[in-house]
Amino acid sequence: MTARIIDGKLIASELRARVGVEVARVRREHGLTPGLAVVLVGSDPASQVYVRSKHKQTQAAGMASFEHVLPADVGQSELLALISRLNQDPAVHGILVQLPLPKSLATEAVINAIDPAKDVDGLHPNNAGRLAGGFAALSPCTPLGCIILSKTVHASLEGMNAIVIGRSNLVGRPLVQLLLNENATVTIAHSRSRDLPQICARADLVYAAVGKPEMVRGDWIKPGATVIDVGINRLIEADGKARLVGDVAFAEASRVAGAITPVPGGVGQMTVACLLVNTLRAACAIAGLPRPAV
Ligand code: NAP
Repeated sequence: MTARIIDGKLIASELRARVGVEVARVRREHGLTPGLAVVLVGSDPASQVYVRSKHKQTQAAGMASFEHVLPADVGQSELLALISRLNQDPAVHGILVQLPLPKSLATEAVINAIDPAKDVDGLHPNNAGRLAGGFAALSPCTPLGCIILSKTVHASLEGMNAIVIGRSNLVGRPLVQLLLNENATVTIAHSRSRDLPQICARADLVYAAVGKPEMVRGDWIKPGATVIDVGINRLIEADGKARLVGDVAFAEASRVAGAITPVPGGVGQMTVACLLVNTLRAACAIAGLPRPAV
């Protein structure tokens, strides 16, 4: 068997286009321009690349994009004061603080300071709690992207056996909740789980969010399963060149799986597209408009 490759690049570009259509509609019908503010502290090169990409894609979707770049040695109170201004700013509907923050800053306090209605990263405890309770919430973007990719393979995830490997607040835990909302049967695995290959081999849906290059092997995968690889790991080859790999051994797994996401070109592409979805949804909710059609 050779797995179908789930083309995250194409699916993300279609999603961005649908967001663009809805943004144009809410502007035309309600005079509302959704706005996203991204806060970057310091000059980490990877974070700068992400922030630039978010800025470009936000503008391309017809939304307002506000960038706030602060020095790495910014004080906690100065950062909190900026968040407070963004919370009050009517042109801003989504606030994203690029993580990780420098160690001198208290990440949890910073996230908790964001107005939950503008928390487009879905990390505020209000949103995490609402999601866990099965209530409407702004959900973290990468797990949202995983669900959308899965549903390009299976119209419904109801009754399917899913395994989520990894239990971070950013990916694994919210993904479990989203899968439950889809009526999947979910196992969550982590570094203390026993017999992971055997648990994995029972799953129709495998989500790997571990941060360990190619940890999930081909013989862990049930024939025909759908494999969504969240991992992004940079390997340095013998010739000194860098290569990105996921948490799944792609070549092996794609001989067994029914469908699989590549790295790069899979989940990574969906994260920013889902950020745009969340910003549009937040803008409509804040304005008292019905949920948009994306
Ligand atoms: P994280 O916070 O480091 O969490 C990793 C999780 O993996 C933890 O729950 C950990 O278990 C578990 N784990 C570690 N070793 C394991 C093992 N041997 N067996 C089973 N579970 C194990 O990482 P994260 O933020 O969730 O990110 C995970 C990966 O996704 C990383 O490669 C990251 O770069 C990538 N990522 C990609 C995107 C994207 O847009 N595509 C977005 C976010 C993250 P414990 O809880 O027991 O420690």
